[in-house]
Amino acid sequence: LINSRKRPGLYIINIAAEMAPVAKVGGLGDVVTGLGRALQKKGHLVEVILPKYDCMDYKRIKDLKVLDVDIRSYFDGQTFANKIWQGTVEGLPVYFIEPYHPAKFFWRGVFYGENDDFRRFTYFCRAALEFVLQSGKKPDIIHSHDWHTAAVAPLYWDIYVPKGLDSARLAFTCHNFEYQGTEAPAALAACGLNVQHQFRLDRMQDNFMHNRVNLLKGGIVFSNLVTTVSPTYAQEVRGPEGGRGLQISLAAHSNKFFGILNGIDYDAWNPATDPLLEYHFSSEDLLGKQKNKAFLRSRFGFSTGGPRSEKPLVGCVTRLVPQKGIHLIRHAIYRTLEKGGQFILLGSSPVPQIQREFEDIAKKFQAHPDARLVLKYDEKLSHLIYAASDIFVIPSIFEPCGLTQMISMRYGAIPVARKTGGLNDSVFDADDPTIPFESRNGFTFSSADEQDLNYALDRAVNYFLHRPESWRDLVKKTMKLDFSWDSSANQYVDLFKKAIARAVSRT
Ligand code: ADP
Repeated sequence: LINSRKRPGLYIINIAAEMAPVAKVGGLGDVVTGLGRALQKKGHLVEVILPKYDCMDYKRIKDLKVLDVDIRSYFDGQTFANKIWQGTVEGLPVYFIEPYHPAKFFWRGVFYGENDDFRRFTYFCRAALEFVLQSGKKPDIIHSHDWHTAAVAPLYWDIYVPKGLDSARLAFTCHNFEYQGTEAPAALAACGLNVQHQFRLDRMQDNFMHNRVNLLKGGIVFSNLVTTVSPTYAQEVRGPEGGRGLQISLAAHSNKFFGILNGIDYDAWNPATDPLLEYHFSSEDLLGKQKNKAFLRSRFGFSTGGPRSEKPLVGCVTRLVPQKGIHLIRHAIYRTLEKGGQFILLGSSPVPQIQREFEDIAKKFQAHPDARLVLKYDEKLSHLIYAASDIFVIPSIFEPCGLTQMISMRYGAIPVARKTGGLNDSVFDADDPTIPFESRNGFTFSSADEQDLNYALDRAVNYFLHRPESWRDLVKKTMKLDFSWDSSANQYVDLFKKAIARAVSRT
């Protein structure tokens, strides 16, 4: 095992449940990789610790090998062996933890959604910290993410600092306050936390369900720095609707809580080099974009003849969950057709009822010349949709940051977005004279109702159909905007350094 060397940059270890592209469910996976790579480019040493899921995309892991180490970690009153694997994902060093536990925690064919998720991930947090301790690593920052790895923070102070792992300040990023990880208090004991000690309202007791413990709250209370993924969402979660009970804890810890807008990985999301695209293009040369549009239309049997060749293609790539504004997505399909556009949806739902509802809609449109619904997760197709679409719809009810608006902009698809969370920090209305012209990059609406969506979508479609020259300029300008990780990574570094400086000034 490599010990940390003295180096000019920071040494940051991420402990996370997702990492794109090998183990990605949503934006969290993109952030771990995108932020990690940006920090690495700036000269920091970044490592990631992940569960060794059976269902990872192993083709995307380079040089995967087992380490010759014996890491035993505590759970349920005994210790269990863990196999540690090491590999490289997108240039970042990653350690994968494979528990030898009879429950086969990460051999389930899925990343989450299991009945024992609380146990699976508290086991993982404990094993990850045990690995950091035993490998002699001395990170400056341990960065954990969402409820899955929030237990890292209380475990660190209660168990690992006394064992001598005390070099790190703890950073915690909450990507979505909807998912908190609550359980009966006794469940905390499995990973070795002292239930009596933690079961208090100023520690891990849930703010509303007083007979539960709340892992996300533990991450907030016990980390030195807490961030979320956009400035607007950081404001929204300070209120009861966004905070889902945790607004009380955020108020108590407001001096260490910040919102930093995510970026996207500009190497991975680059229409000029994207290996998943048939035709490349850039803001200087949009021919490839038209070719992708033609390719998508012929692949999905959209009609293209006559006046249809002028139709705007409206795209949507999303998890189909209530947060994403399901009723508005459905409405957008019909409205687009009414207004003379074509619509392609790529989405899948973990909720069987929603999946069925959209399968019914998909059947209705099976032979329609202007709409297709593809109801699965498909990385390659998502790239084609971003590249081929003229307009991209994101009518979220709430959206902590949202990556699809940034990807669509980079690929020349103009977003139609509801003004919430990170969408409000990145999409600015083309018709709003109060916004500087250079920043105007989309069409926005405020209320989560059909009339408001129509207001934005209609303007986008009309703009495309009736002002082609100006539309082209809007596309070019939008593609050149910078939503890379570069500046957001600098903000993280500043906050990491401040957290470290606060600790030094206390000693
Ligand atoms: P969330 O994390 O809430 O799902 P984000 O906008 O932050 O939303 O991130 C979504 C990411 O997942 C984007 O990279 C998007 O392209 C991708 N994605 C969502 N649904 C699909 C799908 N069905 N197929 C392929 N990629 C998808």
